Amino acid sequence: MKTAKQFLAETDPEIYDVFTSERKRQEEGIELIASENVVHPAVLAAAGSVLTNKYAEGYPHARYYGGCEVVDVAEDLARDRAKRLFGCDHVNVQPHSGSQANMAVYLAMLRPGDTILAMDLSHGGHLTHGSAVNFSGKIFNFVHYGVKREDGRIDMDDVEKKAMEHKPRMIVCGASAYPREIDAEAFQRIAGKTGALLMFDIAHIAGLVATKLHKDPVPWCDFITTTTHKTLRGPRGGMVMCKAEHAKAVDKIVFPGIQGGPLMHIIAAKAVAFKLALEPSFKDYQKQILANAKALADALTGYGFDLVSKGTDNHMMLVDLRNKGLTGKAMEHALNEAGLTVNKNAVPFDTEKPMITSGIRIGSPAVTTRGFKEPEMKRIAAWIDRISKDIENEALCAAIKGEVKELCSRFPIYDGLA
Ligand SMILES: *Cc1c(COP(=O)(O)O)cnc(C)c1O
Repeated sequence: MKTAKQFLAETDPEIYDVFTSERKRQEEGIELIASENVVHPAVLAAAGSVLTNKYAEGYPHARYYGGCEVVDVAEDLARDRAKRLFGCDHVNVQPHSGSQANMAVYLAMLRPGDTILAMDLSHGGHLTHGSAVNFSGKIFNFVHYGVKREDGRIDMDDVEKKAMEHKPRMIVCGASAYPREIDAEAFQRIAGKTGALLMFDIAHIAGLVATKLHKDPVPWCDFITTTTHKTLRGPRGGMVMCKAEHAKAVDKIVFPGIQGGPLMHIIAAKAVAFKLALEPSFKDYQKQILANAKALADALTGYGFDLVSKGTDNHMMLVDLRNKGLTGKAMEHALNEAGLTVNKNAVPFDTEKPMITSGIRIGSPAVTTRGFKEPEMKRIAAWIDRISKDIENEALCAAIKGEVKELCSRFPIYDGLA
C-alpha cells in the first residue's frame, strides 16, 4: 500500500518538491496575511479525496448525472451544517470562490447597469465591490462610500446620503481591509428606507459571525456571502446564504447560471470545516484570534505605529506607515526577508500608488491556529519595530528570520502528519 503522497513523489518529483517546500515555508514562517489560515488535516484529506472525480451538476437528489447518491450525502451535510452554523434560511455551498458567491447574488437579483452602493476599494472594499478592472465594475453601476478621515470608521452619513441620492437596487457592506465591526442593522435601516436589497459580504469575518462574537447580521440581510477559507478555516471556496424567498433565484444562478459542475471534494471539505466550526472549541479559537489581534495592535501602538481607526475589533489591523517614513512595499519586502509574511495595503486616503501603498495589513487567524497567544504577538510587534527602524539591513532581517524559525519550531502546524 502506498499513500497518495508517495504516488505524487514518484510521478511528478517537481510538483512534489513544490509541495514539500511550501509546507516547510508554512512551518518555518509567521503567516500574518489576514485572509489566510491553516486548515485541519481532516479538511486537507477531504479536499484531496476521490470526490474530485465526480460530476454532479445540479443539486442533491436532482442531478444531471448518475451515480451522485454518495456525493449527495456530502452536500446535504454541508448545507445542513452551514444553516445550523449561521442560522440562515437557505445556503448554496457550490460557489468556487468568494468572488463567485458575490457574482451569483448580483446576477440573481440585478440587471446589467443597475446601481449598487458598496465600500470603496481604496478604503477597504473588495475587487468584487465594483472595481473598474473587475466583472462587477464592468457590468454594474457602482457608487462607493468610504471611511471618515478623522477616525477611519465607515461614514454612515455618507452611506445614507449616497443611498438617498442614487437609489441603488442593492447595498453591499463588508470589506477586505477594515478593522472595525460592521453594523448590519444600521445598513438595513438605510436599505429599508431607500428600497434597496442588503448584501453583507462576510468573507473575512465569517468565523467571528458564526460564533456571534460579532453581532448576528442574519436578521438584517437579504444575502450574506462568504469565503470558507479565511477566519472560517475551511477549504478555499465560497458560499451564499439568503432569505427563503431568494433561494430559488440564488440556486438557479449558481448552477446553471455561472458555474458547471460543483467541486464535490471541496464541498465535502466545507462540510468537515463546518462540523469543526460547530464545536465549542471553535468559539475559543475565534476569541483568541480577537485577543491576539488586540495584543499585536496594542504593542504596535506602543512602538509608535499609527493604526487606521487606532485599533481593531476583529482579526486584522491596518498599519499606516507614513509617520515612520516607510512604504507598504518596502515594509512587506523587509518583513518577508525576516520570515514574517504580510501584505502591503492601501490605507484610506493613500497618496501612494496601489503597487507601493502606505500601509500593511496584518491578521491573526493563521498564527492563532498554530497556537500563538499574547506573548508571541508581543514578540512579533518587537520584530516589526526593529525592522522598521533599519529596513535596509539585510543582516538584521536574516538574524530575525532565525529567531522566527526558532519560535515556529515550538508551534508546529502539521505535527505528526505524514
Ligand atoms: C477575500 C474576499 C472575497 C473573495 O474571495 P475569493 O475566494 O478570493 O474570490 C470577496 N469579498 C471579500 C470582502 C473578501 O475579502
